[in-house]
Amino acid sequence: MQPRKNTNIYTSTPRATGPRPERRRPRPSPGPRPRSRKSRLSGGALSVIFLSLVAVVAVIILFSNNAGPNIEREPNGGYYTARTGSESQEPPHGYGYNNGGNNDLNINGTNGDPISNIPLVTMPIHEIADTGYLALINRQHAMRYEPYSGHITGAWPTVAVSRVDGMYLHESALRAVSEMFATARQEDIAAFFVSSGFRSYEAQTDLYGDGSNSAFVQPPGHSEHHTGLAADILAPGIGMMEMGNTPEGEWLAANSYRYGLILRYPQHATAITGIEFEPWHFRYVGRAHAYFMKHSNLVLEEYVAKIINYGHISFEKDGQTYHIMHKLPQDGMIYVPYELEFMVSSDNKGGFVIVAWNGVHDGL
Ligand SMILES: [Zn+2]
Repeated sequence: MQPRKNTNIYTSTPRATGPRPERRRPRPSPGPRPRSRKSRLSGGALSVIFLSLVAVVAVIILFSNNAGPNIEREPNGGYYTARTGSESQEPPHGYGYNNGGNNDLNINGTNGDPISNIPLVTMPIHEIADTGYLALINRQHAMRYEPYSGHITGAWPTVAVSRVDGMYLHESALRAVSEMFATARQEDIAAFFVSSGFRSYEAQTDLYGDGSNSAFVQPPGHSEHHTGLAADILAPGIGMMEMGNTPEGEWLAANSYRYGLILRYPQHATAITGIEFEPWHFRYVGRAHAYFMKHSNLVLEEYVAKIINYGHISFEKDGQTYHIMHKLPQDGMIYVPYELEFMVSSDNKGGFVIVAWNGVHDGL
């Protein structure tokens, strides 16, 4: 195959290559916040205000004692921690994950034995920010809804792109790709660039056309490019299909998980993904999930199925314990971990995947 010439590559402007500061996600339910009052009030007026506040707080405490499950949330850098609440009566869940003797993964619990459960509390699902990082979008699963729209941002000049206009990525995917590209430059691997990112329904419709290229292109509504979490990544002077057997493409496949990105359509899983080998297509899922998928050699279809099947998978990574759980909403509530930081993603199949950790992580 003729190497595709990448003549129009817009390189990113040089800048500090360290990780960008974590952007705080907006609080999911920003209640009224106390504001510092700078008005000049008399002592009497202040006393009245103070006593009123005491009365209001007393009433809240009185009523909350009878209000059933009641948790507080402390968004900590965009994550949640349930500090108080009624412990769940949910039956024991989760059992040891059968890793087939794979010693690359330090999974808690032995095959088939119950793993120690962690305390859970209930939380209204509408109050949880859905990251969408683990949404399974493929030919069988059209994208149900969009937690992504407020997070799509221009890719250039943060990263090199094949065209400046209309190249967008989810901010989390952009950060991951940017860090990965920076390492690749430092290690003289390649000056990678993004050739496709976020696609609208209309753009996917145009690309899909009459479906004659459906071995590589998903029908509109079924492409994970709709999320902005997928990036097609190429290197100058290397054709798309050639990426798979060049050192540049092999480096991406071997290292992308460190940045929370997975090679979404690998050679060995075309029967499962329904898509031919695409050495250029990477999907952001977050570092904990990417780590697990890489070390257990699972594609997203298999990983989501395992999480649903096992209910709770717990593993060690760099001395930190991660809990991966699957929860189905009941009456608008889901069970979430108690006193652990966690993030939630729809699985795009009606359930939710929770990843929880004990306060220390490496930038999920
Ligand atoms: Zn793609």
